[in-house]
Amino acid sequence: MADVQQHLSSALRQLRQANGWSLTLAAERTGVSKAMLGQIERGESSPTVATLWKIATGFNVPFSFFINGRVVPAGDVAGFSQPNAEMSVQPLLPYDPQLRFDLLAVELAAGAQSHSSPHEAGCIEQVVVIEGELLLGVGDLWRRLQCGEAFQFSADVAHSYRNPLNTPLRFHSLIHYLHRPGVTN
Ligand code: MN
Repeated sequence: MADVQQHLSSALRQLRQANGWSLTLAAERTGVSKAMLGQIERGESSPTVATLWKIATGFNVPFSFFINGRVVPAGDVAGFSQPNAEMSVQPLLPYDPQLRFDLLAVELAAGAQSHSSPHEAGCIEQVVVIEGELLLGVGDLWRRLQCGEAFQFSADVAHSYRNPLNTPLRFHSLIHYLHRPGVTN
C-alpha cells in the first residue's frame, strides 16, 4: 500500500472512532457510501480528490488532515494523487489551527475536470493560477482565469475546476475554514 494511502486509511479509521461514528453514520454525514468508506479504511481504494473533500467536510476537518496527519514537520508534506492521476493536490504548508487555512498546490491534467461538493459553511476559497488556464465554475457562472490571475469565492456551494487546454494546469488554492473550531488538528 502506498504511504499516502496507508496514512489515509488509518486517519479515517481514527477519526471515525474518535467521533464514535458507525460506518452508516459516517456515510450519512459525508455523502460517501459505506462501501467506499470501508474500502478506504482497509486500504483497498484510493478515493478521488472530490471524494476526499466530501469526507473532510463531513467530519469537519481540513482537507490536509488526510494527507498530513496530525504533526507534520516542515518540508515533509506528502501529496495526494487520485488513481487516474488527472488531479493531484499537495499541501504547501501544514494546516494552521490558529489561522485555520490550507494552502494547496493543485494540478489538473490537460482537458481534465473535477467537481467539488460544497465545502463547510462559511468556507472561502482563493485560487491563483500558476501555469496554464483555469475554468472555474461556481454556481451557474464559469470564469476563465489566466496564468497569474486570482479569484476569490464562497466555497460552500458546489464548484468545478476544468483545464481547457492541452497543457498542464497548476493553481494554488487557499482554503479559509472560517467557522472551524480553533484547534482540532
Ligand atoms: Mn474547492
